Amino acid sequence: VIEIRDLHKSYGTLEVLKGVTITAERGKVVSLIGSSGSGKSTLLRCANLLEDSQSGEILFKGEAVHWRGTGMARRPGDARQVLRIRTNLSMVFQQFNLWAHMSILQNVMEAPMTVLGRDRAEVEPKAREYLAKVGIADKADAWPAQLSGGQQQRAAIARALCMEPEALLFDEPTSALDPELEQEVVKVIKDLANEGRTMILVTHDMRLAADVSDEVVFLHKGLIEEQGPPDQLFGAPKSERLRQFLSATQ
Ligand code: ATP
Ligand code: MG
Repeated sequence: VIEIRDLHKSYGTLEVLKGVTITAERGKVVSLIGSSGSGKSTLLRCANLLEDSQSGEILFKGEAVHWRGTGMARRPGDARQVLRIRTNLSMVFQQFNLWAHMSILQNVMEAPMTVLGRDRAEVEPKAREYLAKVGIADKADAWPAQLSGGQQQRAAIARALCMEPEALLFDEPTSALDPELEQEVVKVIKDLANEGRTMILVTHDMRLAADVSDEVVFLHKGLIEEQGPPDQLFGAPKSERLRQFLSATQ
C-alpha cells in the first residue's frame, strides 16, 4: 500500500533521513525501532506528508506522491493528492491530541464529517462502532479530560479508524501511558494487526513489535541498519548496533 524509496530529509544542515526505503504491503505490519533521534517520527511524518522531504519517492498504491526535489504540498493542483494520502494513512500520536472542547463521539466523527464531507447520520453509527471496538462505547458523551490516558489513546485510535484509512501509522502510541494502561492499548493494536490492517508502528515496546510485526526495521542515525522478520531481528540480530540497542532496552 505504501512504499517509501530512498527518502532523504534534512532540517537545515541536519540530515535526519539519509536514504530510507521501506514498504508496507497490504495487511502487513512494519515496526520501526531505533534510538531516540534516529528519525522514526520524521519518517512517519514524511510518509503522511506532514513533512516535506528533499529527495526520494513515496508511492501510495503504486502511485508516486512525492518525487525528487519537489515539495509536493507546494504544487498547486496536488492538494487533492495530499488529502488522499492524509485520509488514507491515519496517524496516531504519542500524545493523543484529542480536541478538548469536543465530546469523545464528536472527536471521532469530526474528520469524516469535515474532511470527507460525510453526513452525521452516516458517520455516527460508524463512530459508535469503532468506540465499541476499542472498548469505550460508554464514553461517547464524555469529555477527553474525563478519560484515563489509555482510554484517550483508544479514542484516538477510534478516531483514526473512523476515517476508514488504507493504513494506520502509529508513533509510539503507548509510550505516554502508565504500564497498566499501556496494555489496554497494546491489546487494541494486536486486534487490529490480527484483523489484517496495514500498519507502520513506531514503538519502544519490543515485545509488541515482536508480537505484531511481519517486518521490523531498525533505524540508526537516519539509515536502516538492519531489517527482517521479528524472529530474526530479535532472535539473531546481525548488527552490533542492534545488539547493543536491544540489550539497552531489555
Ligand atoms: P524519539 O525516539 O525520541 O521519538 P525519533 O527517532 O522519532 O526519536 P525524530 O523525531 O524523527 O526522532 O528526530 C530525528 C532528528 O531530527 C532529531 O535529531 C531531532 O532533533 C531532529 N528534528 C526533528 N524534528 C525537527 C524539526 N521540526 N526541526 C529541526 N530538527 C528536527
Ligand atoms: Mg519520535
